Amino acid sequence: MSPETTRIAVLPGDGIGPEVIAEGLKVLSRVEDVFGQRFRFTEAPVGWAAIDACGTALPEDTRRLCAESDAVFFGAVGDPSRDPSLPPGERPEPVALLGLRKGLHANLRPVRLHPCLADSSPLRPEVVAGGVDILIVRELTGGLYYGRPKGRTPLPAGGEQAVDTMAYTTAEIERIARVGFRSAQGRGGRLCSVDKANILATSQLWRDTVTALAGEYPDVALSHLYVDNCAMQLIRNPSEFDVIVTENTFGDILSDEASVLAGSMGMLPSACLGDGAATPFFEPIHGSAPDIAGQGIANPLAAILTAAMMLRHAFNLAPEAAAIEQAVDLALADGLRTADLSPAGAGAISCSAMGDAIVERIQRS
Ligand code: NAD
Repeated sequence: MSPETTRIAVLPGDGIGPEVIAEGLKVLSRVEDVFGQRFRFTEAPVGWAAIDACGTALPEDTRRLCAESDAVFFGAVGDPSRDPSLPPGERPEPVALLGLRKGLHANLRPVRLHPCLADSSPLRPEVVAGGVDILIVRELTGGLYYGRPKGRTPLPAGGEQAVDTMAYTTAEIERIARVGFRSAQGRGGRLCSVDKANILATSQLWRDTVTALAGEYPDVALSHLYVDNCAMQLIRNPSEFDVIVTENTFGDILSDEASVLAGSMGMLPSACLGDGAATPFFEPIHGSAPDIAGQGIANPLAAILTAAMMLRHAFNLAPEAAAIEQAVDLALADGLRTADLSPAGAGAISCSAMGDAIVERIQRS
């Protein structure tokens, strides 16, 4: 993609969203200077910031800006102190997140425990000693969350019946499985497909479909795990995993479980990718963290690493993305910590000081 066409919609949102996105933008500006790239940033309101400004969590202008951009760089939305006043269908999380993720079938969540943060992981040092570096590839547009029929109906004899439908087609499974195989080719060459094929028909189709594709990727070692076993292995032996590919609900749960391995929510980036028709969407996995918002103590590294994912996946700028990731590694190796990474709070630096530290360490290799 030529630099002139690199349009980024910036949606800081609520709580710590604006604080961490500001640091991400600082880092992207530094990338412009060092690598001669030019990004066109356009900011727009989303979440409660948008409700206050325009009366709705995802204004039409914001939606249009995202549709006309090459990538969306998103902070977080939500404010539990205000959310109860809104019906579920108008709350920022479903309106903004589901609205902007529409058409994006692949959710990529890398979970990496930096070796010098091993103390921040809740797992015993010997469990994480083998390293934690996992990419979870979650199917994002199918399965239980979207299947029909869905809903609650009253029963004549009293009470209700509730139904959710888990449905997958071969094409949907092949599409996400290919993301998994290609991701494994670019990493450690191991793909673990997670399902519940001993019980669920959708999982049996899932396993058959993934297995049938394996011959096209002879350089990838494919394995299968039942989701319950995977949940256990993630905390027993996280270093056994390279890339995990799984369906929507299993991926939702497993990726939150795995996020704990990294030591802090403030360390984890994510990307939602489609087939080119919808604008790719990049966000730190954490929420608006109202408990620390406005204090300047949030960890901006998840947002900064999200910016790196955006450069790699939306713009094919791998050297620039690697420069950001190396700068993060260097800052951590130099002992720099925000409050979430230094439990006693001793020597913790601010959100903007961490952003500055990353900026200082970005260079061409
Ligand atoms: P949260 O991720 O906002 O916070 C969970 C805990 O992690 C808090 O103690 C918080 O202080 C800490 N934390 C999170 N990010 C951090 C960071 N960068 N640096 C340091 N500490 C960090 O989750 P929550 O408290 O369950 O939700 C708060 C609000 O955010 C809710 O309204 C929720 O609906 C919303 N939410 C939004 C998104 C999103 O926009 N994608 C995701 C999750 C939650």
